Amino acid sequence: MASKVYFIKASVNDGEKVISEKARTLFKAGGFAGCFKENDFTAVKVHVGEGDNNTHITAPCIKGLIDELLALKTKPFVTDTSTLYVGRRHNAIDHTILAAEHGFCFDTLGIPFLPPDGLFGTSETPVQVNGEINEEVFIASGIVRCQSILSVAHFTGHVAACAAGTLKTLGMGCASRKGKMRQHAALTLSIGDDCTRCGECFNHCPADAITLDDVKAHIDQDKCIGCAECLVACRFNAVRCNWGEESEVLQRSLAEHAMGVLKGKKNRAAFFNYIISVTKDCDCVKSPDLTTIVDDIGIAASTDPVAVDKATLDLVENKAGKKLAELLDNDELSPHYQIEHAERIGLGTTNYELIEVH
Ligand code: SF4
Ligand code: SF4
Repeated sequence: MASKVYFIKASVNDGEKVISEKARTLFKAGGFAGCFKENDFTAVKVHVGEGDNNTHITAPCIKGLIDELLALKTKPFVTDTSTLYVGRRHNAIDHTILAAEHGFCFDTLGIPFLPPDGLFGTSETPVQVNGEINEEVFIASGIVRCQSILSVAHFTGHVAACAAGTLKTLGMGCASRKGKMRQHAALTLSIGDDCTRCGECFNHCPADAITLDDVKAHIDQDKCIGCAECLVACRFNAVRCNWGEESEVLQRSLAEHAMGVLKGKKNRAAFFNYIISVTKDCDCVKSPDLTTIVDDIGIAASTDPVAVDKATLDLVENKAGKKLAELLDNDELSPHYQIEHAERIGLGTTNYELIEVH
């Protein structure tokens, strides 16, 4: 049976208040209130935008959704986990300060920002999934313990997973530090002769895995945790990755972590993909004004995490008239591994019915 995906057109040109109201309209039209019960601890999974990133979904754009949760008398909190790489979301203190600077705080939203994985990203709960790659996955305890989830993803391209939508938001964004490392462990990277010895990768590597000699930088594979931060940091495309095979393993592992996040939350989670400001790189990139790859489309929402990502991908590729990998200038990448694996392990279906809401 097809899963219902509700969709409303929206653009950054609408302004934050209108976008927020459109999300609220979608919430009501889709009957998503049924996922949430009075006194639930409800995790509102967001991405607050790393550093100076200004293409992420801003806090006022999700206010309508939060007001709906408050009206249902749940106990919602905005949340995101610590990153593997060194940045302003590397621990709960810096992350919470950045979240407040970007408006993800009580003053703006009327609910607190609470990292679910503790001060250092190590507060975790192992969840048995019996997947093809992981028997158990490591999920932030605050996510496992809450009764319901409202996932608010900003759909973008991604340097390793190709697509960053709901599955990525759940699988990577709700995993503890150990869970993230397990997903990234599949990637192997090397540095080519284009290296200029600028040192950026060296400065950003969280594992001290990079050294610089007189000619170029080198990666110590024994130390590398596969976080892909050096890929993002290098402006000279000198960092190389075995994308095809390794991205597939990463994406399949990511889907199994998403399964761990949703275990025990059947009919208790709703997934919103904001398909506006669709940038080539994800919101973890700290620079402002990232390049967009398609005109703004709208917001898609479903109780099926697979259907909402498949519908979103189709909307993006139809609008652009190109495959996502082409839009990212890397035709070795494919976003389908995560979607197809998620479907195979029973997270949802790629068979969807798109219902446009006005
Ligand atoms: S060398 Fe490895 S650990 Fe260091 S930034 Fe690159 S991927 Fe991450
Ligand atoms: S960021 Fe790129 S160019 Fe600079 S040292 Fe690292 S690999 Fe070389």
